[in-house]
Amino acid sequence: MHEISLVQAMLQQLSDLAAANRATKVIKITMKIGQQSGVVADSFRFGFEVLSANDDLVRGAELAIISSPATFRCTQCDHTVTAMDRPDCCPKCQETFLIPEGGDELILQQVEME
Ligand SMILES: [Zn+2]
Repeated sequence: MHEISLVQAMLQQLSDLAAANRATKVIKITMKIGQQSGVVADSFRFGFEVLSANDDLVRGAELAIISSPATFRCTQCDHTVTAMDRPDCCPKCQETFLIPEGGDELILQQVEME
């Protein structure tokens, strides 16, 4: 489960942010996870619950996860579709070979701390 190492990286980022802002407590974290990032939101949340329990800075913080869609480009007609899941085919020409673009981000979008 590589989400654990991603959560560790996020906690490190939070710790740096808190130090920079002289904050001692994280209240709420908003993560943006792209549909194509390969990150399972539930696993990420589970990893967060496990690791944050031993971290004074983030213990009890609320974790909000926003799933962001990807854009799929048709290899035939160049039409693009933005969707959470890969469409079966291009809505314009029915081509089935669509290439995903974007949607692979993992971003610490917002942090509330005090
Ligand atoms: Zn098409």
